[in-house]
Order: sequence, then C-alpha cells, then structure tokens
Amino acid sequence: GCKKVQEALIEEIKKLNLEKEIKVITTGCMGPCDLGPVMIIYPEGVFYKKVQVGDVEEIARRHLLEGEIVERLLYKSPKTGEAVSNFNDISFFNRQVKIALRNTGLIDPMVIEEYIAQDGYAALAKVLSQMTPDEVIEEVKKSGLRGRGGGGFPTGLKWKFTAKAKGSPKYVVCNADEGDPGAFMDRSILEGDPFSVIEAMTIAGYAVGANQGFVYVRAEYPLAVSRLTHAIEKAREYGLLGENIMGTGFSFDLDIRVGAGAFVCGEETALLASIEGKRGEPRPRPPFPANEGLWGKPTLINNVETYANIPVIILKGGEWFSKLGTENSKGTKVFALAGKINNTGLVEIPMGTSLGEIIYDIGGGIPNRKKFKAAQTGGPSGGCIPKEYLNTPIDYDSLKELGTIMGSGGLIVVDEDTCMVDFARFFLEFVQDESCGKCAPCRMGTKRMLEILDRITKGQGKEGDIELLEELGHIIKETALCGLGQTAPNPVLSTIRYFRDEYEAHIKYKK
Ligand code: SF4
Repeated sequence: GCKKVQEALIEEIKKLNLEKEIKVITTGCMGPCDLGPVMIIYPEGVFYKKVQVGDVEEIARRHLLEGEIVERLLYKSPKTGEAVSNFNDISFFNRQVKIALRNTGLIDPMVIEEYIAQDGYAALAKVLSQMTPDEVIEEVKKSGLRGRGGGGFPTGLKWKFTAKAKGSPKYVVCNADEGDPGAFMDRSILEGDPFSVIEAMTIAGYAVGANQGFVYVRAEYPLAVSRLTHAIEKAREYGLLGENIMGTGFSFDLDIRVGAGAFVCGEETALLASIEGKRGEPRPRPPFPANEGLWGKPTLINNVETYANIPVIILKGGEWFSKLGTENSKGTKVFALAGKINNTGLVEIPMGTSLGEIIYDIGGGIPNRKKFKAAQTGGPSGGCIPKEYLNTPIDYDSLKELGTIMGSGGLIVVDEDTCMVDFARFFLEFVQDESCGKCAPCRMGTKRMLEILDRITKGQGKEGDIELLEELGHIIKETALCGLGQTAPNPVLSTIRYFRDEYEAHIKYKK
C-alpha cells in the first residue's frame, strides 16, 4: 500500500502549497515489516506506522502544516505500551548497528546522487587513487570479514586466492540467489541500496584483476532486478562503471543474470554453471572457483551482504571493522526475523549479540503472551536453538557448537504451539524438492528421511525410526556432493537433539 500512500501525500502537499519545502522520497525497506507502510518525517525523525491513504490528509494538515504529532499513528512499545515518536528511540532501531544496511531505508535507491551524498563511491575513489590491489586485499583481510552467504569463509583470503590464481580473464560474481524460506536480507539490500553492491564489486574487480562481473539474482525479485539494472546504467552514465573508470584507466563492467528459481543455484558451482547457460548442478570442489570458476577462469564469488560491507571497510579501515563483533566473527550480521515474533523484519546487529536480545529487545518478544520455544537459523540448512540457549552469543562458532549454522541470516521463531516434528518436516520437504538429483545420498537419502518423517507425523511411526533418521542424516551429511545435501539433515538432527520427546510422543501415541 506504500505507493498509494505516497501518491496521496504528494497530492496533499500540493494542495497545501508545500512542494518547495517538503520532498517525498521513496526508500528501500526500513526493516520493520510488521509496521508497514511506514513514514519518517525529517528533520525531527518522527516515525509513523501502518499509514493508510485515509491518514494522509491528517498527517499533512496537522504535522506538516501545524507541526503537531499525530499520536494515534505512533509506534507503541510492546513492553510499556508507551507511544514513541522518534524512530531513534524505538528499540527495534536503536539497538542495531547498520553497516551493510547503512543506506537501506535511508536513501532513494533510484537516485545516484543520494548514494554519493552518503559517501558513496568515496571508497572506489580511494582504492583507484591511493591503493594497490594488494593493499585493498590486505585491508579486507585485516577486517576479518567472513562470507555472509552461509559458508563463513574469510573474504580477504578468497580475494587473495583469486588475485594470485593463474588465468585470464578473471571474473567477479555476486550471489544474489537468496532462496531460503524466510530470508530477505539480500533482496532488501539490492532493492534499497544497489549502488553499494556495484561499488564493492568494482573494488573487488580492481583487487583481483577482473574487468567483468555478473550479479546472479533470482527472478522472484523483480524489484531488485529493476533497481539494480537502473543503478548499473546510472553508474555507467557517471563514468563509475565501464571503460576507464574515473579516468584512471581501470575498466570494469557488470551484467545481470536472472536465475530461474532453483534453490541449488545458490550453491556457488551450480550458480556458475547456470551463468554459463548450463544446467544448474553443483560440481565437486576442488577445483575451487578462485582457480577454476566461470568458463574455467579464476572467479571471485561473494554474496550481496558481504559486498555491501566492503566500501565501509575501505573507508573506515579493516581495523575499525574488526573491533566490532567477537574474536572469530567480526562486524555485524543482517537477520530476517520471521515467524512468531512481534517485530518481524530486517535487523543488523553486531556479531556476539545474544539470541535473547534479538528476540526480546529488538524483536519485541512473542505475540499473544505465548512462550518462546525455539529459533531456526540458517533456514533449511540450519538447525534450531531452544530456549535454554537464549543467552548464546550469535556468531559462527557458537552456532556451530549448537548444531546449527549462521547461514545467510534467516531467523525463524516458533512459539510453544509449534510441533517441532512438523517444523523439521517442512524444511526437509523443501530441500527434498530442491535437490538437483545429481548424487545419490541427497537424491535418495532425503527422500527416505522424508518418508520416515511422513509416517511419524501421520501417527504411523515405528520403533527405531528416530535412530534411522539419525543414521541416514549423518550419512547424507558426510557423503552428499554439495552444501545443499550436506546440510539438508540439519533441521531434523537438531530437532531430534533438542526435542526428542516430541518425536517419541508422535510414535508412542499412534492414531
Ligand atoms: Fe544435487 Fe543434492 Fe547432490 Fe547437491 S547434494 S549435488 S543438490 S543431489
């Protein structure tokens, strides 16, 4: 409903003859899904939630003309019930540290000048005028940034491997094939701040010695595709992409490839095959894409959020970035909060923030006074974290110890009413459906696991089914060819680990 609200607001501003003083700007997602459509009025920073066309006249006349706040449209704290007018005082916003999302929800993503006004392209200018490719890579290494797409591989090392690899030409690829159910981090960055990804890929091209890049984005994200297309055209028009960038002699250009909606194409070797026009199937690694990627040439591949951090690391320094977060997980992480949580939406928090802080302080807790039961991180590749671990700091290592993964940032919350066996079955059915079928453990193993889960959830489970699920799960993890299969059993194994009693109850109390 945002578009209609915006049109009505522009109309009202015209009627009040305020067009010269007040500008209406469309931004990307501000994060609080549950409160949309939202409107922030600057310079005061007054935040209005759930704005409807019918509210616009009142906002225009009372607030814009008279300077009065329209109280009924303010956000109310779920804890105290008090209305909060300034968005900086809302706990959903003020506990966040925004690096990757720094411009998302702030600037108009269709206007390159707005990006430039927020220090956009200053990092590329610095790199091209003051730094050697090795110095750029050193800065990224110093930051401690790890891949935000799920694997958590050190980004600087990946850049170094690609730079050192023999072969020409080299390529830079952005993985924007975000396919996890409940995840929308990359989509929001591309929709809200596409220039940051373009700038970062250009910096990466300079660092590794590539002159061509590709953004692989899923077709289900039409707005992201159109904003990215527009941003690429604008960057070319301004001499920030293409031949002889900023007159420095360095050339780098970008193309978009739209994926056809296969989850497996988020796996890097499948994604590269898809860009080449082949069937999107993974291949064994090594060789890694850094040595043999697109068309057999050295290729750097990072995801959207990883790239979005790069310009800030270049401008503020790797050391500055490395001071945020924990020993082995530096910086911040964007999470998409979904499920049974009051403030669903997009948040960016320093690594090491506890799960409890995310769910209660930022997420506003569980709706309808229900109890928190568990949170799933890493989508269908991850696992659940039960309430005993609410104090666990969110970082790569702690999550691994709990039997889950950071993943790309989906965080799905379930309350006391959720059956964890059904929950695990949902994810397994998803990966079973998305398995490309190339290797037997994943193709057949996940099918067998799903059959067992089916009979358990139908009340037809047998003694020994839980052990069989565990055995199959471990074998698939160890023998599947790619990350999809290797992580597919995680939701089942972690729910068995923490909620075994629910599986037993299903088997014991037959229908
Ligand atoms: Fe395909 Fe699954 Fe094997 Fe990956 S693990 S190659 S998705 S069958």
